[in-house]
Amino acid sequence: MKDPLTNRCKCGQPMEIRLRTLIFSAMVEIQNVPVQSCQQCRKSIVCPEVKPDLKELINSLGPEPRQQKFDFADYNEYANLLRMISDGNQLDMPIDEWIEERINQLLDLMLVARSAHDKRWLEELEKKLSQITKHRNLIDVFPG
Ligand SMILES: [Zn+2]
Repeated sequence: MKDPLTNRCKCGQPMEIRLRTLIFSAMVEIQNVPVQSCQQCRKSIVCPEVKPDLKELINSLGPEPRQQKFDFADYNEYANLLRMISDGNQLDMPIDEWIEERINQLLDLMLVARSAHDKRWLEELEKKLSQITKHRNLIDVFPG
């Protein structure tokens, strides 16, 4: 099921989701940020689903960030998923299978983190897991 709020523009047109590189403070390059855009209005916005994570990443840079580069897909599972999809070659199975695989992988890592009593890592993995399960239903937005 598509969420009409996140996948439609105010003008009623469906919005396309693409990965873009955002430049922040003219110094920081953040690659693979999921952005929704409307062909009709020529308007683009960062996908609401990833906004909190993007904000967190930007906040962590401090008030005067030095020149650096990030791949947002390392911070957000939704971006990671889109990167895999747009990267065609790496995806030799149906998307939902890939998601199941990724979920299993995260669950395995959580076992490792738990037995290592690494609370921070565990929290990070839990966050990623909730991101990927939350966005599972958005997959039908993408063609192919
Ligand atoms: Zn529009």
